[in-house]
Amino acid sequence: MKRQFAVIGLGRFGGSMCKALSDQGLEVLAIDVDEERVNEYASIATHAVVADSTDEAVMKSLGIRNVEHVIVAIGENIQASILTTLLLKEIGIEKITVKAQNDYHEKVLVKIGANRIIHPERDMGVRIAHQVVSKNILDYLEISNEYTVAEVSVTDEISGKTIRELNLRATYGCNIVAMKRNENILVSPSADQQLSLHDVLIMIGAERDLARFENSI
Ligand code: ADP
Repeated sequence: MKRQFAVIGLGRFGGSMCKALSDQGLEVLAIDVDEERVNEYASIATHAVVADSTDEAVMKSLGIRNVEHVIVAIGENIQASILTTLLLKEIGIEKITVKAQNDYHEKVLVKIGANRIIHPERDMGVRIAHQVVSKNILDYLEISNEYTVAEVSVTDEISGKTIRELNLRATYGCNIVAMKRNENILVSPSADQQLSLHDVLIMIGAERDLARFENSI
């Protein structure tokens, strides 16, 4: 059985979600109040419908109840985003992911029981900031308040050394979870693994500790 998704709000973020899900062969119900936006996604989504997601009767008639995971990607209109989330919760949707505009919006969404709250602009800003500041950090993902995953490329400074010689755990409290060499991924590399220039280390640790390591290489 195909997994069913609905995307409400087809702005830049919702539109891109809708396309990415459809590209993966998943069934997507796309909803927006704006007819032009809906037309844009008519050939991309499984169903694209002009509807106001705060209208309970309309949402029920669309069969939203049967959707496994709903993504609320309404941007500017915080009130509509909150009302929609509340409605989906009342209808009994199991998974609701909502794009938050700000911290106040997030607080309300937490209270009404959104399962996952995302801040695409804020999170992307943080990721890109790390990439532009540091020449060796290729990507950066905060996975909790404490831990961050970073992709760090191997420099001249450390190439030829083994993972053991880096003494990462003792000196920086970080771990290498995987290593990329060309197209190959080596999961849990051994301590004897030798590093080559341009290998990519996928590391986990506290942001401060990862930065200390990164500045030392
Ligand atoms: P982004 O920043 O991701 O581009 P936008 O604010 O531009 O987000 O887009 C949000 C979309 O949500 C718009 O296309 C808008 O028409 C739609 N939208 C706003 N309110 C509702 C609603 N009540 N029901 C359905 N769609 C809505």
